[in-house]
Amino acid sequence: MRIGIDLGGTKIEAIALDAAGTELRRVRVATPRGDYDGTVGAIRDLVLEMESVLGETGSVGVGIPGTVVAATGLVKNANSTWLNGRPLQKDLCKALSREVRCANDANCFAVSEAIDGAGRGSRVVFGVILGTGCGGGIAIDGSVHAGANGVAGEWGHTPLPWAKGDELPGPACYCGKSGCLEGWISGTGFEWDFARVTSRDLRGAEIVKAAESGDDDAEAAVQRLTSRIARGLAVVVNVLDPDVIVLGGGLSNLDRLYDGELSRQLSDYSFGGGITTPIRRNVHGDSSGVRGAAWLWPERATGTTV
Ligand SMILES: [Zn+2]
Repeated sequence: MRIGIDLGGTKIEAIALDAAGTELRRVRVATPRGDYDGTVGAIRDLVLEMESVLGETGSVGVGIPGTVVAATGLVKNANSTWLNGRPLQKDLCKALSREVRCANDANCFAVSEAIDGAGRGSRVVFGVILGTGCGGGIAIDGSVHAGANGVAGEWGHTPLPWAKGDELPGPACYCGKSGCLEGWISGTGFEWDFARVTSRDLRGAEIVKAAESGDDDAEAAVQRLTSRIARGLAVVVNVLDPDVIVLGGGLSNLDRLYDGELSRQLSDYSFGGGITTPIRRNVHGDSSGVRGAAWLWPERATGTTV
């Protein structure tokens, strides 16, 4: 049995999968915000509850909103800031008396889609989450590629490429820089850009609906979004050239992203053109993060006791 935990800013979700990836049980609790020891305890209790109800022991993988730096074992870049600088993986191992694997939540998304989702059968999967923020993750042969510094795939905090005119310098980002892709192509960025140009305040889904109804302002916003995602992904293709790109998060529900225009522009911006990389909508939706956490143990179904 594999147990996956998705540690979010407002809730912690746990899932248990059998060897075939079938969901056995799912539980959610509120995140003890600002309370590190409480967060470790809540994860421990969720795992023990799962195992008690299901009558077996599982491997444990945890998706976190940040990364564990290999050299130090400490969490960094988590927007749940009470985790930063803390040895979360080590403390979870101690609390659960076994080896526990932690990975960035966007990397978990990529792993989930690589194993039995939209990237199934592909060696190198680039996963993109276009939600409140903009995350990127890399799965190679079904495993996380976190990188030497734990920041591989942190595509959202690279600048919008081939920026033009009023796209410079771009919005200030919480990371301390300006013009990050996240500020443009996250759901939040999409709404901000629409408001910036039109002085109208609409939610992302409302902008999409307005575009479908023939609203010129909304149509132009969707076209700007498409161009920006294409430019961002062209850099991914030039550096990583993944076998497939899988989109997740709220904006991945925008049908227009799969009608060929995004792919055409991706090819135009990538070096030399002729790019045929498929861009697919995710299969597992909101469950990708927690499923991917469970799949952080691809090779065996039970954790090693330490
Ligand atoms: Zn940034």
